[in-house]
Amino acid sequence: MKIVSDRFLVNGMLGGLARKLRMLGFDAEFSSDDDSVLIRYRSRAENRIVLTKHAELAKSLGDRAWLVSGAGTGEEFHSVVPLLRRITGPADPLSRCLDCNSRLEKITREDARDTTPHYSWVRADHFTRCTDCNKTYWKGTHHKRMLDEIREMKKQLAR
Ligand SMILES: [Zn+2]
Repeated sequence: MKIVSDRFLVNGMLGGLARKLRMLGFDAEFSSDDDSVLIRYRSRAENRIVLTKHAELAKSLGDRAWLVSGAGTGEEFHSVVPLLRRITGPADPLSRCLDCNSRLEKITREDARDTTPHYSWVRADHFTRCTDCNKTYWKGTHHKRMLDEIREMKKQLAR
């Protein structure tokens, strides 16, 4: 398979997989749309590899699709590892919004005050905000869990 893009369009019931890819820093748009004409169109218009469980759609897209298998997000991620290994562009972990895929930008503690729970705001020292949906991220307990998850995914990619 020729790698035609390092950007993805995650299709179907694979929202968890899209979040994992975003966590690693990959540009992973999500569409639950099962209109294959629309998915094919978006793949070409936005130059994205479609990650899908629909065998027919994957087949019709050729190099522009990767057939995802497995039950649950962990297995689904495992099934795209061979594809991710071939993508050379370095992904920048925690640089994208997990909810909407847009870029995160660093903000000051003061800017984060209104959108961060007080308990976390007092303790965290690093804040970022989504440039599109405005969701605020900070380094707290969930952040440590995410780093563990990223480490685990990177281990799989390196093998
Ligand atoms: Zn967002």
